[in-house]
Amino acid sequence: MPPMSADPDSSTRPPAAREASSAAGTPGATKSGPKKAMEKLGLRRDIDLALHLPLRYEDETRLTPIAEAGEGETVQCEGVVRESRVELRGRRQLIVRLQDEGSQGAGRARGTELTLRFLHFYPTHQKSLAVGQRVRVRGEIRGGFFGREMVHPTFRAVDEDTPLATALTPVYPAGAGLPQAYLRKAIAAAMKRAPLDEVLPAGTVPKPLPPLREALNYLHHPPPLARLGSLEDHSHPAWQRLKFEELLAQQLSQMKAQRERALLRAPMLPTRPGGLQERLLAALPFALTGAQRRVCEEIAHDLARPQPMHRLLQGDVGSGKTVVAAMSAAICIEAGWQCALMAPTEILAEQHFRKLIGWLEPLGIRVAWLTGSVKGKARQKMLDAVADGSAQLVVGTHAVIEDKVQFKFLGLAIVDEQHRFGVAQRLALRKKLESQTGELPPGYGDHVPHLPPQRSGIEPHMLMMSATPIPRTLAMTYFADLDVSTIDELPPGRSPIVTRVFADGRRDEVIAKIADAVAEGRQVYWVCPLIEESEALDLKNATETHAELSAALPERMIGLLHGRMPPAEKAAVMSLFSAGEMQVLVATTVIEVGVDVPNASLMVIEHAERFGLSQLHQLRGRVGRGSVASVCVLIYTGPLSQTGKERLRAMAETTDGFEIARRDLDIRGPGEFMGSRQSGAELLRFADLQEDAPLLQAARRLAPQLLDAHPAAAAKHVDRWLGSKAEFLKA
Ligand code: ADP
Ligand code: MG
Repeated sequence: MPPMSADPDSSTRPPAAREASSAAGTPGATKSGPKKAMEKLGLRRDIDLALHLPLRYEDETRLTPIAEAGEGETVQCEGVVRESRVELRGRRQLIVRLQDEGSQGAGRARGTELTLRFLHFYPTHQKSLAVGQRVRVRGEIRGGFFGREMVHPTFRAVDEDTPLATALTPVYPAGAGLPQAYLRKAIAAAMKRAPLDEVLPAGTVPKPLPPLREALNYLHHPPPLARLGSLEDHSHPAWQRLKFEELLAQQLSQMKAQRERALLRAPMLPTRPGGLQERLLAALPFALTGAQRRVCEEIAHDLARPQPMHRLLQGDVGSGKTVVAAMSAAICIEAGWQCALMAPTEILAEQHFRKLIGWLEPLGIRVAWLTGSVKGKARQKMLDAVADGSAQLVVGTHAVIEDKVQFKFLGLAIVDEQHRFGVAQRLALRKKLESQTGELPPGYGDHVPHLPPQRSGIEPHMLMMSATPIPRTLAMTYFADLDVSTIDELPPGRSPIVTRVFADGRRDEVIAKIADAVAEGRQVYWVCPLIEESEALDLKNATETHAELSAALPERMIGLLHGRMPPAEKAAVMSLFSAGEMQVLVATTVIEVGVDVPNASLMVIEHAERFGLSQLHQLRGRVGRGSVASVCVLIYTGPLSQTGKERLRAMAETTDGFEIARRDLDIRGPGEFMGSRQSGAELLRFADLQEDAPLLQAARRLAPQLLDAHPAAAAKHVDRWLGSKAEFLKA
């Protein structure tokens, strides 16, 4: 699915004036407008334009006699204007009667008439559609008040021997302000200049696929007899060639990134027997699960190597990733380097901070706290401690990657809920070590004997954590340059969560359930959705629910938590809830990640139909953390679509995060699954991972061979396809 899939017909069909001029092939007077619009679509180089492929085609290779054009058909007709008048029927409109010569077969048949109707028009229209003028029009035939008509057809003046198109006319993905005719001309011109010679060595492209130039020529201008079906469903060999090219570029750039990473250096952080990590393990109030031990070993193995680790730690909600982060930090700090832990929200960062302080401070480790809300003197003090190396572990939000934050020697960067960060942010973190100044830690030479005195080419180790598991095919494709560790086991003593789905009409029953849970000494979350368009609405929703629950449970403390509250107030509410003094917490999705209150056993999610499955799963994971049986209630409003029903059913049927991710993928497809934050998804414009699995396999086989035997061809190919985007794949 192309990223800019807006149907050009709806987005670029302006008042008819522009259609008329664009149909005549003359781009508007302002050159900068459409040019800018093209740049917005990433169409800068000739090759970008050549690779901008049609969404569909229009057939302008033949004329349909008006008499034969049926209602509902989109056709091209030609005739002479017999009448042109402006009428006031409800609104001002231009009515034009067109008459053609009639069908060939009918002898000297009388011509047939067609009405053209324009609701927006300019004097220039009336001129080009003057009586006696011969015009060629294209549009959908509708049954109108005066018989058959076309509303806002494209049209252009012709004479009797104006030739017809010899190829199907492409319709390209476009945006507002970018007329099709302009784009067509630009692409046709670019196709002549673009370097389209085959860069892949002979014999490397799978057999039945045509050469690139041939494939592109075909797709931009298919012959009149082309099989439209195979063009539209992208099964045509020309399309296959393009998809193969795209997949190959992606595989190449990822493998290249992987190889480049092997050339990068990172501090070696070996695990010392009897060291900090063992002391932490001994001090924990629980034993690690087998899965936690296994992933700790995988991480320790990577940290001991002189190449930067680039590892994703995935584990279901509540599987205990934080303690794995702490164990990794302990190894890093023991080796004399600093560790940073970055979380997407203040609340989550603070939870980590408290937990890590609890575990690590007794062992003599200094933990610093850095978020946007730390200001003034306190902030400067933190920054100093980070810069002089006295802060060994730095926990915070995005604030951690700001330029002002200078580490003395960052050895390990941990990113929690990594999918909520962008590529640029991950890259910034990776550059943190290289950009720092000053000497490296005492004895670092022992760890990194080959490290040059200057810091170029040095990166910290990276550990990314996520509760949103990435299905295998996606991991393979988008994250070829990422090692994955999985915690596939929950800590013992968890009770399963039962999920029930309620229509909003049964709200009273839900409130009765809350009263019961609270009476048993349990705590309850009530989550209201984020309404994207309006933070204010969002808040209203939560505030009203808060009032409703306060009225229904007058003896209880009901809290309210939302994104707009000042951090101090949020923290106060959270601590009341954590301490068990507050029984019910009404929150917008700010509690989505990481909150850990084992006594909470009931989670109510309002407007559950508006959440993504993974998000619902994450929210649900806030309960079921203690030993009591927990319940999650999903309230939906309004009639549900088929997909909506399937989604909520999936939630009720399973609590396995991996299974939910799989179903999410089935229901939504990979692009949406990954979300716009994942650059990788945007990079696949044409290929579909599932449908084009055989092409993907071929690309995966070819990529390493090309890199080894034809590195120049590989580089050319990547540049052709990705240009500047290639950098993004490394993050
Ligand atoms: P998540 O993977 O969702 O980030 P957390 O790290 O917040 O999960 O862990 C959830 C809860 O489980 C925390 O209270 C944590 O202290 C606890 N926990 C983690 N590991 C274990 C374990 N091996 N045994 C018992 N409790 C554990
Ligand atoms: Mg967590």
